[in-house]
Amino acid sequence: MSGVILDGKKINQEILSELRPRIAALTAKARPPALAVVLVGNNPASQIYVRNKVKTCHELGIRSIELTPPENTTTEELIEQVLPLTTDPEVDGILVQMPLPKQIDAERVTRYIDISRDVDGFGIESLGALVLNRPAPRACTPAGILEMLQRYHISLAGKHAVIVGRSDIVGKPMALLLLHQNATVTICHSRTQNLAEECRRADILVAAIGRPAMLTRDFIKPGAVVIDVGMNRLTDRAEVERLFPGEPARLAAFEKNGAALVGDVDPSAMKELSSYYTPVPGGVGPLTIAMLMANTVQLAESHLLQ
Ligand code: NDP
Repeated sequence: MSGVILDGKKINQEILSELRPRIAALTAKARPPALAVVLVGNNPASQIYVRNKVKTCHELGIRSIELTPPENTTTEELIEQVLPLTTDPEVDGILVQMPLPKQIDAERVTRYIDISRDVDGFGIESLGALVLNRPAPRACTPAGILEMLQRYHISLAGKHAVIVGRSDIVGKPMALLLLHQNATVTICHSRTQNLAEECRRADILVAAIGRPAMLTRDFIKPGAVVIDVGMNRLTDRAEVERLFPGEPARLAAFEKNGAALVGDVDPSAMKELSSYYTPVPGGVGPLTIAMLMANTVQLAESHLLQ
């Protein structure tokens, strides 16, 4: 048996095409939606993420405003740059790309971003609204996962969801979103005992850990829906061969790029044991960007169509 692929690229395209007429309506009535993207320093992964976000904005006709302060920016200097955006009537969403350089107090910076422009849903007010199940921008990765589960008609009410990872941007908001869909939710983390046993109880298993292929077949109940959020770079050829047996395309990509991507779940175990699963890459990643665009459009509508 082999699980059905939850195709993030396909859902991404569906979401983006549903946004196009809404963007056209905003542009005709007032102006295009606008997203401010703040990228501090030279983190190569962040540069790639930001490039993809900006590219998607341009493809859709969303205006992007890019700020790229240098690596040695202080908290005060960054706040000075972000502050004008927070009251600019031409800006609908503000995204400060994480992680920030170590000297910057990320929490102090995000506190300046009001809920009406909190396109990432990371602020205290947006998170409070999530706890209370009230409308507010939702963190893009968990919101994208929920959107995908719903579009594949995977029922959640009464199901046991186990989430491994309790970060503020993935694990915790994911748990709350699933709870609001009436799943019974267990959150696991680095201090959880008998992790494999907890995971094996999951009808829906979400891995958001950041450890390559950590969840092996002992962690998966046959027939579970497995969502693999992890994005880990493998640089050891032997590991790539072990984790992707009989996949020459992966090895070829590894030879070309010097690295291969793997999630937090063992790919063969996930494929063989699950009923549905998200591949890495091509599963959760494309949903995050789609939901960022959806949040931007939603905020623009709340600013321009009142
Ligand atoms: P964090 O590092 O913030 O959180 C990781 C979580 O995993 C923590 O709660 C930690 O527990 C838990 N954890 C770590 N080791 C173990 C262990 N051995 N056993 C059980 N739990 C463990 O990561 P993020 O939530 O930001 O991201 C998780 C992964 O998802 C990363 O690979 C990241 O790259 C990827 N990601 C992918 C996105 C996408 O669009 N595809 C978007 C965002 C993230 P504790 O709290 O106890 O330390």
